[in-house]
Amino acid sequence: MTIDDFLSQEDKNNIVKAISNAEKSTNGEIRVHIEQKSCTDEIQRAKEVFNALEMYNTKDKTGVLFYINIKDNKIAIIGDTGINKKVSTEFWKNTIDIVISDFKKGYFAQGIINGIKIAEEELSAYFPKTQDNTDELSNEISIGDV
Ligand code: CA
Repeated sequence: MTIDDFLSQEDKNNIVKAISNAEKSTNGEIRVHIEQKSCTDEIQRAKEVFNALEMYNTKDKTGVLFYINIKDNKIAIIGDTGINKKVSTEFWKNTIDIVISDFKKGYFAQGIINGIKIAEEELSAYFPKTQDNTDELSNEISIGDV
């Protein structure tokens, strides 16, 4: 599957909107990365992407990456150290399960958007939006090799 088969331009716009909306209620910074290159360990690869995208550049270490590999059909969701103090890996596993169940029905954009909404609920509970918070990481989808 190519990226264009996976998401239309409208889908991409809707995902960016979902991220922007989520970040209205939390200081968490969500990014989505999609790639087609095979990987053996999606968590390890997600960590590499997290670093390559310099997602550690947040004041309170509140970056969250949705890593989606459409070659191997793998998903990882990882948070920075601030996130990991509050949000369990079990929570992310459950979120991934929900995203995957949408993917299996062919609802790719909807799956990602649902995942973002679930993350928003959790993140806004632990990292509510504060007035001094800025948009620290781009909301644009990151695609391909990084
Ligand atoms: Ca952002």
